[in-house]
Amino acid sequence: MNCPKCQSTKIIKYGHTHYGKARFRCQDCGRQFVENPTRQPIDEATRQLIDKLLLERLALAAIARVTGVSERWLQMYVNQKFDNLPKQVEVSPKKRVFRV
Ligand SMILES: [Zn+2]
Repeated sequence: MNCPKCQSTKIIKYGHTHYGKARFRCQDCGRQFVENPTRQPIDEATRQLIDKLLLERLALAAIARVTGVSERWLQMYVNQKFDNLPKQVEVSPKKRVFRV
């Protein structure tokens, strides 16, 4: 693994991001980064198409094939969508997961 800024290999572990990914820090230039950033440039038109296909209840694998995004990204996108849903669709209390 190399520093994305100065290409140094003097990398140390530096805790975790809010999303649980390992964070690293370059000892040469001080740059902090995560190993595999999930940020992928998916444009707005593609996102809108994905939203439509989700409403059609297509399988994620099919949506990924049609739109050309990775299944992994799509799963993350869907998870984020459900995380952001408003309160009225909250699942029953039995299924609620308590987070510390
Ligand atoms: Zn560096």
